[in-house]
Amino acid sequence: MRKGEKRICIFGSTGSIGRNTLAVIDNLISNGKDLKLQYLTAGKNARLLSEQIGKYNPEAVVIEDEASYKELKSFISAGSTEILCGTDELLNIAACGSYDLAVSSVSGFSGLAPTLSALKSGKNVALANKETLVSAGHLVEKIMSENGTSIYPIDSEHSAILQCIAGESKESVSKVVLTASGGPFLYSTREEMEAGTPERALEHPNWRMGKKITIDSATMMNKGLEVIEAKWLYGLDLEQIEVIIHPQSIVHSFVEFHDGSVKAQLGVPDMKIPIQYALTYPERITSDYPRIDFTALSGLEFMNPDPDKFKCLSIAYDAMRSGQSYPAVLNSSNEAAVRLFLNGKIGFMQIPDIIRQQLDDHVPEGLNEPEDIIELDRRVNEDVERRFRKIEA
Ligand code: NDP
Ligand code: MG
Repeated sequence: MRKGEKRICIFGSTGSIGRNTLAVIDNLISNGKDLKLQYLTAGKNARLLSEQIGKYNPEAVVIEDEASYKELKSFISAGSTEILCGTDELLNIAACGSYDLAVSSVSGFSGLAPTLSALKSGKNVALANKETLVSAGHLVEKIMSENGTSIYPIDSEHSAILQCIAGESKESVSKVVLTASGGPFLYSTREEMEAGTPERALEHPNWRMGKKITIDSATMMNKGLEVIEAKWLYGLDLEQIEVIIHPQSIVHSFVEFHDGSVKAQLGVPDMKIPIQYALTYPERITSDYPRIDFTALSGLEFMNPDPDKFKCLSIAYDAMRSGQSYPAVLNSSNEAAVRLFLNGKIGFMQIPDIIRQQLDDHVPEGLNEPEDIIELDRRVNEDVERRFRKIEA
């Protein structure tokens, strides 16, 4: 290891955030930053992971899926990178001492265990995986204070808030307003949404992202998860967090202060900008990422979300108000319902119904360890499958 070198581990390097993070790292290295990609991890994409190994020569990689592991081995003939497979190896890497910063960009609940493990072993985390904070915000807070670790948000809205509150006292913030694009169904009727297919719901107007978050954007559950994420990251009361639709995705969030002044952070919808800020915070490093053309900004719009079309948003507020284990149930039942929708098993507007029923039936329980949340997730997934089979019968 070179003196001053910063060693990075990316959980989910083959995904949308993972690939953008690698592009950011290329930019930082070309600006003289001494960065080393120590570990990369993936789910199934052996072809792309093998290309990343060829380019970055990490010390080790972990691929979750066993068949993909065999495929990956067949692509790699020589080299010093150790090739590992499965959840246990992923958690060993997350907990090991030999890196400095983790980028948490696995999608969904699978991101929770490696993220908690990294924080527990004293690593700072650049966090894209909002699901970790939704399911386990209270544990994250405890682990961070016990281990002196920090989270730098990658989510564009939370990066915007961080940039707006820089140099301000927490007490001076009266509220934050998270912007939402409104997704592909913003201008659709409720009836059109009821008939919404996975193909249609995956047509996001502004952002190219993984499938799960793209469906979450279409239901606006993504914004509900982000409200909970903001609450944990910035110690806000739920009443201080508002959501507004802004179809152009140029203003990434607002912060209003007690004196009536408002700050906003703007940028083109390109995740490389917030990813780079998370990796270099509080420094700003030169980039050639696309810039705003101010003459094209005459039509910025802001409007309230329609609660009848985007039920997931109020469901998320309710789950967070109920607290305890409810946000974890919200997260797991949403993920299970989105999977059913993507597999063509349920209609688009059944997603909020399934989540609501799951929350209504939930009896709160103590979630004191990561294992408790993993066990709850398993049960919720089973319940949602059972509920779906009942609907089908
Ligand atoms: P993608 O689906 O594009 O990528 C997910 C990554 O996680 C891939 O590398 C995938 O591997 C890996 N992965 C999936 N399942 C597993 C598993 N069980 N075990 C190990 N690895 C797994 O998702 P995104 O990049 O879009 O999103 C990642 C996270 O970032 C999400 O939490 C999302 O909410 C958040 N986020 C994303 C934004 C975006 O612009 N994309 C914006 C803000 C937040 P493989 O592809 O090899 O199977
Ligand atoms: Mg976001």
